[in-house]
Amino acid sequence: MSEPQDWRLFGQEKYLFGASLVRSDYARSRVVDSPWEDDHCEFCGHEFMKDNFPDVLHEGYATQNGLHWICADCFNDFAPMFCWTVSQHPASKTP
Ligand SMILES: [Zn+2]
Repeated sequence: MSEPQDWRLFGQEKYLFGASLVRSDYARSRVVDSPWEDDHCEFCGHEFMKDNFPDVLHEGYATQNGLHWICADCFNDFAPMFCWTVSQHPASKTP
């Protein structure tokens, strides 16, 4: 339980510590004009795709800009360490 370093950690705190994440459907919320077809979990590397391939994820936690994705397992494991907050979809943010 008190592992000093998880294999999935390699400096993500530099850009993900305290991040505000959005739980979202990958196909709908991925960056629309991004040139790539998939993303990977920032921690374990699990693949997010909008297509229906086996063993890919279709929803997870994304940063507000949609550039970084985190799978549910890693979210659960690292949320306390990274002090993430989860918000609703940015569009529904209260003024
Ligand atoms: Zn993961």
